Parts: sequence; C-alpha cells; structure tokens
Amino acid sequence: MTAKDLSHLLSIEAKTRRPSPLKTAFKYYGKPDIVFLGGGLPMSDYFPWDKVLAYSPEPPFADGIAAKPTEGKAVISELHKHKIEEFDVPLARSLQYGHTEGQPELLKFVKEHTALIHKIPNEEWDVVLSVGNTQAWDATLRTFCDPGDSILVEEYSFPSALETASPFQVDYVPVPMDNGGIIPEKLEELFENWDASNKKPKLLYTIATGQNPTGSSLSAERREAIYKIACKHDFLIVEDEPYYFLQMNDYKQGASEDPKHSYDEPKQTHEEFLAALVPSFSHLDTEGRVVRLDSFSKVLAPGVRLGWIVAQKKLLERYVRLHEVSIQTPSGFTQSLVQGLLGRWGQSGYVDWLIALRKEYTIKRDFTIDVLHKNMPKDVVEFFPPSAGMFFTVVLDASKHPDFKTKFASDPIKVETAIYEAGLEKGCLMIPGSWFQSPNFKPHDNTFFFRGTYAAVPLDQLKVGLERFGEAVKTVYGL
Ligand code: PMP
Repeated sequence: MTAKDLSHLLSIEAKTRRPSPLKTAFKYYGKPDIVFLGGGLPMSDYFPWDKVLAYSPEPPFADGIAAKPTEGKAVISELHKHKIEEFDVPLARSLQYGHTEGQPELLKFVKEHTALIHKIPNEEWDVVLSVGNTQAWDATLRTFCDPGDSILVEEYSFPSALETASPFQVDYVPVPMDNGGIIPEKLEELFENWDASNKKPKLLYTIATGQNPTGSSLSAERREAIYKIACKHDFLIVEDEPYYFLQMNDYKQGASEDPKHSYDEPKQTHEEFLAALVPSFSHLDTEGRVVRLDSFSKVLAPGVRLGWIVAQKKLLERYVRLHEVSIQTPSGFTQSLVQGLLGRWGQSGYVDWLIALRKEYTIKRDFTIDVLHKNMPKDVVEFFPPSAGMFFTVVLDASKHPDFKTKFASDPIKVETAIYEAGLEKGCLMIPGSWFQSPNFKPHDNTFFFRGTYAAVPLDQLKVGLERFGEAVKTVYGL
C-alpha cells in the first residue's frame, strides 16, 4: 500500500525550507577516492574519549528491572572509538558531525522494533531520531502549522504540549473525551457542525495510551473510528506515545494484598505481550497520515533525550531538513550508549525489558487503586483504574459539597483550590485537573479532578501521600 501525497498539509516554513548546500556535500565524506576538504570536522583522534564502559542489567531481568547489575550478571557495553562490534556505533562517528537522521545502527534497531510492534500497512513509512517527544512535537508544529491553522486536542491535555503550540498562533479545538479518551462520535459531530468559512484542522494531537493527565487509553475500536474520520476530513493524527509500553494487566480489587497476585503468574511470552498491546494509530495507517512520536524517556531514562518519529518518508524528509539546521541529531554519547545497550540486549532482550517494566507499573497501579479504595470518601469521589501509563485521577463532585452554592459560589474550581491547599497542608501534592484544561474548553458539569502519579515514589510513600489526600478531601467536604 502506498502513502497518500499529503504535502498540502505542510506549513509555509516546511515548504520553503531548502537543504543546506554544505550538507549536500556530505555524501562524499568517507569515500575512499575523495580527499574531503569540505567540512569543519575535527579529526576524531582529537576526541578525548577513547573508550566508554557502561554496566546494565541483563535480560530476562528475572529479579526485576531495579536489580543492580552484578558480577557475571551484567551487560557491559564497551564502546570504542573504532568499530569492534557490528551493532555498535563507534565513538569516532557518533561524536562527529553528520547522520542527521540518526546513526545507522540505532536507526536499524528502532526500525526493526517499529516493524515488530506496529506492522504499519503503508510501505512508505520510515523513522528519524529525535531528542524526545518534546522536541519532536515542536518539530511537528513547525512542519505542519501556520498562524491561524487549527489543531484538535483532547479536552484535557499535557500543558507543555499545549504551550509548545501556543507561539505558533494556532487555534485549539478541544475534542470531547470520557474515561476511554476521545469520543469518536463527538469528533465527527465537530466536523458536521464545522463553520465552512473556517479552514478545517490540520492535525489531531493525541496522547492515545495512558493519557496525560486523565490516564485514559483509546480502545482499538475508537482508534479505528478516529482514523476513518481523519481520512474523511483530511487531517493528520499525531500520536504522542511515551506511555505506550506502560500498558498493564487488568486491575483486580485487593490484588495488591494477595501474595498470589496476577503479576506473579507465569511470565508472559513475547507473543502474548505483543498481542495484548492496543494497536497504535500507526498500525492503522494505510494512507500515511499518522505521525508517531516515540520516546525512550519513560522506558529507559528521560535524560537520554532520545526518541524517534515514525511517518511516511515524504513528510519525514521535511523533518530532516529542519533537524539539519536545529538539533542536527541527538547527542553522540546518547546514540552510542543507547545502541550499545540495545545491540547487546537485542530485540528480544528489549521486549523482556518492556515486559518487566510493565510488571513494575502494574504493581504500582494496583497498589494505588487499592489504597484509594480504602481512603477516599466514595460518596463524593470516583476513580478509575488506568490501563496504561503513570497517571491516575481522582474525580470529585463539587455540587456534593454542602456549601457549594454559598461558600464556593457554585464554582467547582473554588472547591478544587480548597482541596489542593488542604492537600498541601496535610502534606500531599496532587495536581488540579483544571491546570490541564485545553484552551477553549469549558467543563460541562460540576465535577473536577486531581491527577496523581504512581511513578515517582516507592509504595510506602504512595500510601502515606494518598492517605493524606483522603484526609484533605474529607476535611474540605466536612466528612
Ligand atoms: N509527551 C507527553 C504526553 C508527556 O507526558 C511527556 C513527559 N511528561 C512528554 C511528551 C515528554 O517526553 P520527552 O521526554 O520524550 O520529551
């Protein structure tokens, strides 16, 4: 299947960007018959790193991902200036200029991984490395949005992503969502009622799995319906998916107290793990209208500042031109170190890692929801176990507060603020949901929520924090 030509969706900036003439000469660099006097490249002999050693845990991570690598049970990446292992990125190359798309060995790994996970139906997909999804989203906005364009966003979304978009002077169109994320019928309705004098939105920005902040995940059926709407109304789907691999087993109440918890069940096979992942938008992408932003931040470490963009080749080429004159490419140390590890783990070891990571998050999610069951006053609070990601929400009904109409002047935000402050007084910080409201979105009712994460602290602290938050809610509601 071939991708559609979507060049009409490019921004003026992307359309007018030309390759740097100096960069075009680089294809001759390293050719044995050419003495290359063309670039300001320092000789790698002058790079003051001869060898880098890294110790990492060894697949299949039977003792958990937090177990320290020990003697005889460690993966040691020994990285040299010049190539020794076929899969390594030699320091002489990674620390040099060049390879805007990414170092070939790492690109190969990421491409094989993407093919394994997403099985993208159009043949023209490719990948380009990024400095993580923050940068990849900025690059996406530059590539597609002009001032006055509109973009579809979830009603509640990641504030940094919204802030990234603001200076592009785009108009935000909030898309209604529920516990399962974007509601496709409501998205369709938006287009049915679209004022024909306005240009239709260029793209949908969605955090489809383990959404930040709501913790919701789109089902396969909703993704299919949304993809069809994108084809019909000719917009791109930008899936920002740092939490994709934090998809968990189903929550069972009380499971965290049961020593025979489901996460102690026999380990999933790779096939079972892969089959249980919700299909991505990329998996549905027959037309080449999905831009997938993937990141190592939540699966390896945020500070590696490394991710990758998956899209059809023609669109990706515009990102490469942009990267040539902005990030150039992710840091050479990062590329050598990450590929040193992934090359040694192999695709299979990396899947082992993702399975082991999922187990950690399942334990934390189950524990969190069990503690919420014990500590939250159920008559005013609702919560839903997330199926993916790092976030959970506690939803409250302001109208159930006895003084809602009087003391709080029927304003749910005032109740939210009172709980936020009471939480701080008791010693627990959860983020008020209103901080995540997309521009142009007004809540439909008197409910409000707080976002918490089970990612950042160990279980004992989670328990203390949630007990304190429960106390704060009870105090404010006079319960
Ligand atoms: N997108 C979303 C939805 C996020 O929640 C985050 C991190 N909080 C990021 C992007 C940032 O990702 P990265 O570290 O890859 O830039």
